[in-house]
Amino acid sequence: KLISFEGSEGSGKSTQIARLAKHLQLLGREVVTTREPGGTEIGEQIRNIIVHNSKGDEMCAETELLLFTAARAQVVREVIAPALTRGAVVLSDRFLDSTTVYQGIARNLASDPVNLINQFAVGNVMPDLTVIIDVPTEIGLQRIRQRASDLPDRMERENIDFYNKVREGYLLLAKSMPQRFLVIDGSQSEDAVEKATWTGLQKLLV
Ligand code: C5P
Repeated sequence: KLISFEGSEGSGKSTQIARLAKHLQLLGREVVTTREPGGTEIGEQIRNIIVHNSKGDEMCAETELLLFTAARAQVVREVIAPALTRGAVVLSDRFLDSTTVYQGIARNLASDPVNLINQFAVGNVMPDLTVIIDVPTEIGLQRIRQRASDLPDRMERENIDFYNKVREGYLLLAKSMPQRFLVIDGSQSEDAVEKATWTGLQKLLV
């Protein structure tokens, strides 16, 4: 099964993925975790281009779209598809919905090409379930500021409207495909989010 985790920065995705992975491993399941963009050597190189381009010109949204989906194409074929064939549970920190929301909705690229490129990149590997950890933008940004005294370069450039669009974009997606999405209130404690995630996933995993 492929389970993707989505949400804005500071939503707590990586914490929850680590907790869920531990939980599943205790039950004897093979768990593979991947992070986006990255998770493969080629993907990590692409991640560096995206994350550390602070000095040069701003990356245009089209380039961003193609780089994120390129990294995803690689991790799907190199890591995710083989793991699914083995029967492992794959927990992905972001997947194609990030592209729909960040590059499509928040950066305003037309949805038809975004959907087409997204689909081309993943082939037939789609999440069985997508967990959206939803937090109010201010709370997410506050958490990030506490974690790092300086906001990462990419985040420094964005304004609160951008992250509000991201948040609303996710909620809209979830509404349009309720069978694939599980929306969890990420402003709760880590334990409460873990419990809600586990409850929602049980039907799929047991
Ligand atoms: O939260 P995470 O560390 O996974 O995100 C890395 C960075 O990439 C964040 O700044 C996020 O805003 C950005 N991102 C993006 N488009 C995507 C996925 C992530 O702009 N499709």
